[in-house]
Amino acid sequence: MPRFRQILDTMAPYKPGKAVAAPDGRSYKLSSNESPYGPLPSVIEAIAEGARQIHRYPDAGAIKLTEAIAERFDVPFGHIALGAGSVTVAQQLFETVGEPGVEVVYAWRSFEAYPLLADLAGVKSVLVPLVEEKHDLDAMAEAITDDTRMVFVCNPNNPTGTAVRRRELEAFLDRVPERVLVVLDEAYHEYVRDADVPDGLTFYRDRPNVGVLRTFSKAYGLAGLRVGYLIAQEPVAAAVRKTIIPFAVNHLAQVAAIASLKAEDELLERVERVVKERTRVREALIAQGWTIPPTEANFVWLRLGERTLDFAAACAEQGVAVRPFAGEGARVSIGSPEANDAFLSVAKAFPR
Ligand SMILES: *Cc1c(COP(=O)(O)O)cnc(C)c1O
Repeated sequence: MPRFRQILDTMAPYKPGKAVAAPDGRSYKLSSNESPYGPLPSVIEAIAEGARQIHRYPDAGAIKLTEAIAERFDVPFGHIALGAGSVTVAQQLFETVGEPGVEVVYAWRSFEAYPLLADLAGVKSVLVPLVEEKHDLDAMAEAITDDTRMVFVCNPNNPTGTAVRRRELEAFLDRVPERVLVVLDEAYHEYVRDADVPDGLTFYRDRPNVGVLRTFSKAYGLAGLRVGYLIAQEPVAAAVRKTIIPFAVNHLAQVAAIASLKAEDELLERVERVVKERTRVREALIAQGWTIPPTEANFVWLRLGERTLDFAAACAEQGVAVRPFAGEGARVSIGSPEANDAFLSVAKAFPR
């Protein structure tokens, strides 16, 4: 029998959001925080054109895409590290700091990929419980030891949607030693409307230990193509670039991301429609008697405790796929108005 790493026996595998269908065939996937809109014609065109090149390896350095991101955010080219989705960039970050004995601090519950990536990189996860579904930044600062090399702050937090504010984040960053890398995972940044929730890029410019993780998967609607990036000062970005698997970001992802940046106004209009739906859904749920934490992302969080799996089953019966976390609650993505109505009608009928 071949022998494997021990951690594989205990590691919880990543569970992707499922699609479900009602007996009448209706199916609404609100389990993966995807954009409810299909790709823009201009993006499809770029992909179709790009398809003519797929007998060639992609540009390993993704030069044109990196230039486009640098220009868009007014950051130096050398401050960008790309990956096949920001999950992969997160994996690269864990590989960059990971060594036996190293600790990485993050809130829990937060993005399900973190514990998996920590286990794979062989580092110890230090989980700091959320307080009222929000990051407890004081406790996170206190959790930092001599062995800590990285802290993840998911802002807004997946799966609760809550966001940390500028002042508290600044105070936290002031407390973190410079030898500890702070990664601000801003996968849902484009959905933030609270003016007190900071843009992480405002922190990284004068803090060499801060990196900002962004993705094309959510607001830009390219989840299926896999492209995301880190923006951080040169030493951090350069270290992360060293860990990339050659040619990880494929050509179609590169051209689609460039086309998406060109079509950003159109895409952000769609984001605005999702934000309006988010307000409608949250207010409807509150009117139904639910307690829903304020959300700055494209999903809502329902505290369901022991009833979580029953709720997910009730949703599935109506063709609505949600993301349940047994014993805790369910995360429900904001979808099309029709999908949201289907979800709201299940929520209305469910005992609370
Ligand atoms: C969705 C998500 C990501 C990004 O996913 P990719 O598709 O790999 O870019 C990263 N972080 C969080 C918190 C997410 O929810």
